[in-house]
Amino acid sequence: MRPIFLFASFLLTLQIARPVEAAPVNVVTTTEDLAAIAKEVGGERVEVESLAKGVQDPHFIEAKPSFMLKLSRADLFVQVGLELEQAWVGPLLLGGRNGKIQSGAPGFVDASRGITALEVPAEPIDRSAGDVHLQGNPHIWLDPMNGKQIARNIAEGLKRVDPKGAAEYDRNLADFSTRIDAALSRWQERMKPFEGAKVITYHNSWPYFLKRFGLVAAGYIEPKPGIPSSTSHMREVIALIPREQVKVILMEPYFSDQAPKFLAEKTGAKVVPLPPSVSASAGINDYFDLFDLLTNRLAEALR
Ligand SMILES: [Zn+2]
Repeated sequence: MRPIFLFASFLLTLQIARPVEAAPVNVVTTTEDLAAIAKEVGGERVEVESLAKGVQDPHFIEAKPSFMLKLSRADLFVQVGLELEQAWVGPLLLGGRNGKIQSGAPGFVDASRGITALEVPAEPIDRSAGDVHLQGNPHIWLDPMNGKQIARNIAEGLKRVDPKGAAEYDRNLADFSTRIDAALSRWQERMKPFEGAKVITYHNSWPYFLKRFGLVAAGYIEPKPGIPSSTSHMREVIALIPREQVKVILMEPYFSDQAPKFLAEKTGAKVVPLPPSVSASAGINDYFDLFDLLTNRLAEALR
């Protein structure tokens, strides 16, 4: 009897240990920012991978066959939405042939849900207006308050595909939101002395960030989103910089620094490379690091 009893209790131990050994929920996101937030919400129950790397322009990602393979195995797919990934995500989702994560399925999360988009065009526009997004500016993750809503959307998705983890996801979400609130006061405090300061940005990536931290975009190096600068447009920006008392030119690291440097030489404004994503430069390992770096670097440049 004894060995049998031992064996039975061994089985019992296995059973108790099982939830820990259960396969993690496989989350695939389009960007590193979404991946960082998914890790916060998913904790130990998830494995998260981003298709785009933080150093890449999220509008233009090469749709690799390896991405389809990742999507074919995903339990949850998260995109920014608002047409940010419109050029590359559709074919990948089709190619992944995974019914669980198609638009409308339980494993599909649009992170922009519930977020009020800025710059929604008032009337119909055509493509000559540049790479304008009909649903508004998609760079939503650059406001930490939007980060909280993104986390809520991801938590809902995780609960749909892994209901057993619901309590854990809710706990992680509440903890993340509390930490964002605390950090946001710190970041706003840091930016307060520069309220109303005007900046030039390369692409129109920063409206959510600038609004949250009280800065103003006086102009852009791209004459229209996604359209390369021209001589006549550069002339306008050169005139605008002293007129609007612009001290800094912000550039996403994936653009060429040729135009920003030219403007700096002509006007004395400073070029400030500003990574718009988690992992886009050394030391940005999570969503909090991103805003720590952005506010530190800007405060230093605007001083
Ligand atoms: Zn954009």
